[in-house]
Amino acid sequence: MLLFFQRASALLPKLAAFDMDGTLIQGRLVFALADQFNLSDKVRTVQASGAAGYEQTSAIAALFAGLTRKDVEDAIESIPLIKNSDQTIAALRGMGYKIGIISDSYTLAAGAVAERLQLDFVAANELQIENGRITGRVDMPLGWDRIGCFCKISVCKRYHLEKFADQFGVPIENTLAVGDTKSDICMIQRAGVGVAFMPKDSEIRNAVDKIVPECDLLEVLEFAA
Ligand SMILES: [Zn+2]
Repeated sequence: MLLFFQRASALLPKLAAFDMDGTLIQGRLVFALADQFNLSDKVRTVQASGAAGYEQTSAIAALFAGLTRKDVEDAIESIPLIKNSDQTIAALRGMGYKIGIISDSYTLAAGAVAERLQLDFVAANELQIENGRITGRVDMPLGWDRIGCFCKISVCKRYHLEKFADQFGVPIENTLAVGDTKSDICMIQRAGVGVAFMPKDSEIRNAVDKIVPECDLLEVLEFAA
């Protein structure tokens, strides 16, 4: 069976990119962390500031200065996976997909989720940590600056979708992208198949025609070739 899957994947390389917060996990890491350390009001103020996405990521990381690596690990551990995410990943793997996370959260969290689901790639922001404590500085991969994407967020999903597709030798038309907010629009519009999973804002609802309104990730497979 394994041999068959490997052969199928060699013939038809495909790639699936998932957003993390609200798409693979039932919540948002930044909110879980902020709730726990009474920073929710400050996080919301940043988010309401109207600053570009990457500037908000930088300002929010600064609020978490002094927390420990374990605080982040515990926060991500406390958030359950979306219903049927394991089965969805297994089914996609069986169809020959390389699968990963492209998230504007943190590598500490996205890496843990990727490990739980045994995924192939991760792109996210890297919190700088010194002596086990978050410094408040964050390394942001960006990417929109290189391809002229409109998103201006800390991890341009379209740039990273193209990057991973290239890395795994997958034509862009054989890619699947799944996300739930406006930050996912650039990736969803670029992918061969782009799906909005339980869309959270009107921007993504208006920009994407393939929508899964139920909280069941298996429904995404309806759109996957
Ligand atoms: Zn972008």
